[in-house]
Amino acid sequence: MRWSQYYLYTTREVPKDAEVISHQLMTRAGMIKKLAAGIYTYTPFGFRSISKMMAIVRRELDRAGAMELSMPAVQPAELWQESGRWQEYGKELLRMRDRHDRDFCFGPTHEEVITDMVRHDVRSYKQLPINLYQIQVKFRDEIRPRFGLMRGREFLMKDAYSFHADGASLDATYQDMRDAYCRIFEACGLDYTVVEADSGTIGGSSSHEFMVLAQTGESAIVRCDESGYAANTEKAEAGELPAPPPGPASEETPDQPQQVATPGLTTVEEVAEFLGVEPSQMLKTMIYTSEQEELVAVAIRGDREINEVKLANHLDVKHLALASEGEVTGATGAPVGFAGPVGLTKVSRLIADHSVRSMSRFVCGANAADAHLTGVEWGRDAEPTEWADLLLVGEGDPCPSSGKPMTLSRGIEVGHIFKLGDKYSKSMGCQFLNDKGQGNPMIMGCYGLGIGRTVAAAIEQGNDADGIIWPRPLAPFEVLLIALNPQDDEVRQAAEALYGELQERGVEVLYDDRKERPGVKFKDADLIGVPVRLVVGKRGLTEGKIEFSLRANPRERHSVDVADAAAKVGELLE
Ligand code: ATP
Ligand code: MG
Repeated sequence: MRWSQYYLYTTREVPKDAEVISHQLMTRAGMIKKLAAGIYTYTPFGFRSISKMMAIVRRELDRAGAMELSMPAVQPAELWQESGRWQEYGKELLRMRDRHDRDFCFGPTHEEVITDMVRHDVRSYKQLPINLYQIQVKFRDEIRPRFGLMRGREFLMKDAYSFHADGASLDATYQDMRDAYCRIFEACGLDYTVVEADSGTIGGSSSHEFMVLAQTGESAIVRCDESGYAANTEKAEAGELPAPPPGPASEETPDQPQQVATPGLTTVEEVAEFLGVEPSQMLKTMIYTSEQEELVAVAIRGDREINEVKLANHLDVKHLALASEGEVTGATGAPVGFAGPVGLTKVSRLIADHSVRSMSRFVCGANAADAHLTGVEWGRDAEPTEWADLLLVGEGDPCPSSGKPMTLSRGIEVGHIFKLGDKYSKSMGCQFLNDKGQGNPMIMGCYGLGIGRTVAAAIEQGNDADGIIWPRPLAPFEVLLIALNPQDDEVRQAAEALYGELQERGVEVLYDDRKERPGVKFKDADLIGVPVRLVVGKRGLTEGKIEFSLRANPRERHSVDVADAAAKVGELLE
C-alpha cells in the first residue's frame, strides 16, 4: 500500500474525551473516527487490525469445532418477552418500533435468536452437541460509553452458543472453548489471565473471564501465585481473616454493651479515632433495599467493604441500592451513620459477613442519634438472621486455597465464557428427545469475546511515549518502508524496487512515499507502530545500504545491503 494514496490520516490532537492511552493512540493513528458517543468508524487502516483479530478468532474457533453463522442485528420483541429479558434488560437494550408498530430491539447479545433457531431445527440427542458462533455488531446503550473501542455502544463481538444433551457434554465443550480462548489471546501476543467470574443468580453454574492485565482495566482481580487461584473481585473469596483483638472492656458494665455519645461522628474512621479503637474492632451496618421492597441490614467489619454483587446473588435480586435517609431513620430510629445490630427489629433480615464472626467486644452504632455501643458480643447482645460471604476481597487477603496473601491487580475483560444451563432453553421451550424418547430442555453454554476491546487492550499493553507498539499478529501492516526524500530519483527507484520485492514475497508493507519531511515520517512511524521499519535514504544508498529497526526497540538501528533487504525482512518477521 502506498501511503500517498492510502486512507490514513494521523493527527497530533488528542481527543478531549480520550482518557486511556489506547483510545488516544487509536484516534491519533487514524484507526477510528467517532461518529457519536460510543459509536465509531474503523478506517481502512484500523480495520486491518480488526480483521486480523477476527481471522485469529475464526481460525481457533473452527479448530475447536464451532460453526460460523450470521444472525440478524435487529430482533423481534416477542423472543425477548419469551425469555423474560424484555423487562429485565433495562435501558441498555435499544428498543425500536417498525412501521406496523411492532417492537424490536437492536441485539446486545443473541441467546434468544439462536435458541429460537435451534428449537425449530434440532429434535434429537443424536444431533447434539452443536456449537455455533458469529462475529457481529452488537448495540448496548451503555450508561457511560468511554475508552474508545473498550466500552462502546456499538461494538463487534464474537459470540458463540453451544447446545447439549447433558452437563458432561457442556463441560467438554466449555473446556474446548476455554482452550481455544487461551490460544487466541496467546496468538495475539497478550499478557492475560483466566479468572473465575460471577455467574449471577443463574444456578451454580460456572463462568470464567479472560483478563488482559493493564492498569487502566475496569475490572479488579485477585491472584495467588502459590495455588494459582485467580478471580474477579466481584466473585473472589478469601480464606478466614485473622481475628481482630477484642475491644476494650467497660469497667462499669462488663456484661453488657455500654452506650457512648459520639456526637456528629458517623464514619468508621471518625468513631474509631474518637474511641481509641481500630476500625477492624468496629462493626459497620448498612441498610439496603431492592426490587423485593424490603429493608435488609448487612453487617461487615469496619475496615472492610461489602461486595454488592455477592449480596445481590445472596438475596437473589437484580438491583440493589442503599436505603434512603428516610428509610434508614424509619428502620433504626436514627440518622444515617448510627445503625447497629442490637435491637434492630424493623428490618426483614440481618445478614452478617463471616468477617464479623470472630469479633469480640466490638463497637457498633446504637440505633440512636449521636450514639454508639461498645463491648458488644454476638449471641449475648445480637444475633444475625444469617451468615454469608459478602466480603469484597482485597490486596493481601488470604487465598481460599493456600492461605497465602493474594495480590490485587487490574484487568480488561476481553472474553467471558459461561455455563448457562437451561435458562433459555427452558423458558423458550428448546427441547430435544433423549434416547428413551423423553423431551428435555437442552443444556447451553455461551462464549463472548470483544473484538475491538481486544485490539484496544493490545495497545494498552504495547505503547510508549511516541505511540503504538503492535504485537505483530495484530499490526495493521508488518513492515513500514520509508523513502526519505522520494523526490530524489535514486532514493525513489531503490524504494520502489524494494516495495515491489516485498509485495512479491507476500509481506504486508505500507510504503511511505509521501512528499513529507523526514521528521514527519519518523514521528508518524512511531505513532502507528508498525513492527519493522525500513528506511531508504540518500546517505545509506551511497554505501549500498538500507537502514532497518524494530518498533519495539527504536534506538537500535541496523543496516543491510540493498540486495539483502527483502530477505532480512523475512528473517525479522519469523
Ligand atoms: P462488561 O462487564 O465489561 O460490561 P459484559 O459482562 O457485559 O462486559 P459480555 O456480555 O460477557 O460482557 O460480553 C462479552 C464480551 O464482549 C466481553 O468480554 C467484552 O470483551 C465485550 N464487550 C462487552 N461490552 C462491550 C462494550 N460496551 N464495548 C466493547 N466490548 C464489549
Ligand atoms: Mg456489560
